[in-house]
Amino acid sequence: MIQDEILKLKKEKNAIILAHYYQDKEVQDIADFVGDSLELSRIASTTNHKMIIFCGVNFMAETAKILSPEKKVILPVKEAICPMAMMIDKEKLLAYKKLNPDRVVICYVNSYADVKALSDVCVTSSNAEKIITTYKDQKMLYIPDKNLGTYLKDKYHLDIDIWPGFCCIHNNLKTDEVDTMRKAHPKALLLIHPESPLALLKMADYVGSTKGIIDFASKSEAKEFIIGTEEGILHPLRKRNPDKTFYLLSEGLRCYDMKLTKIEDVLRALKEETFEITVDPNILVDAKKALDKMLEMS
Ligand code: SF4
Repeated sequence: MIQDEILKLKKEKNAIILAHYYQDKEVQDIADFVGDSLELSRIASTTNHKMIIFCGVNFMAETAKILSPEKKVILPVKEAICPMAMMIDKEKLLAYKKLNPDRVVICYVNSYADVKALSDVCVTSSNAEKIITTYKDQKMLYIPDKNLGTYLKDKYHLDIDIWPGFCCIHNNLKTDEVDTMRKAHPKALLLIHPESPLALLKMADYVGSTKGIIDFASKSEAKEFIIGTEEGILHPLRKRNPDKTFYLLSEGLRCYDMKLTKIEDVLRALKEETFEITVDPNILVDAKKALDKMLEMS
């Protein structure tokens, strides 16, 4: 069986397999650890394994490399990218900083190393609220996700400029879909990821990261939930809560890039040790400072 081959090779090569909650079920089930960006960053920064096989999109594997520069980090599918991370680049950020030197730059992890290196601190959807409110008396720039930034700006009345990037999956959600699902499932609670538009977040019973949604649903006494984030989350939700029912808010909640990685790619990545992630050492040092600061402040 392919799973046995993976386990054998993983042991021989002293490798750890990390997978994001948005990966296919089969990939999640073969991983040593399944988590969201913050949890996976923490593991990448502390693991003793020589090699990290990162099942996710490329900025995540790059983040693991920055946090563990001495490890070999492999992304099984080179083409797995996050479109949001490409909605900001170093030149545009430098131009903004020149005009606004007094703003603290807060960078969502869905970004590349050269952008992180120009930022004061990184955040994920699990810790953005805590970290951003620490700077609430200062002027800020939040890059690149407009929806999470707008949600926190609205909630805390912050002096924060928001970069106009977005997640193509969550940004497409519509309030009509909420109305339809609420009518169909009147007892269900609505749990939504903050990469979604503000109008939907205002309709939610809970707004939080992927891990936040899993924790909320697992602790809640409610039995039915409408889930407003990528469909991969349904696997851990159902595994942990066999007595509860989960409905996906929209059929559009499927990230093409996250689903590129198949279990065969994990095996090939272990065998061939491709595709290895590299980061320019000069960029890595500054990007690591922003990520380390995030881990300290979380
Ligand atoms: S779900 Fe959205 S933010 Fe996450 S990797 Fe896919 S496009 Fe990027």
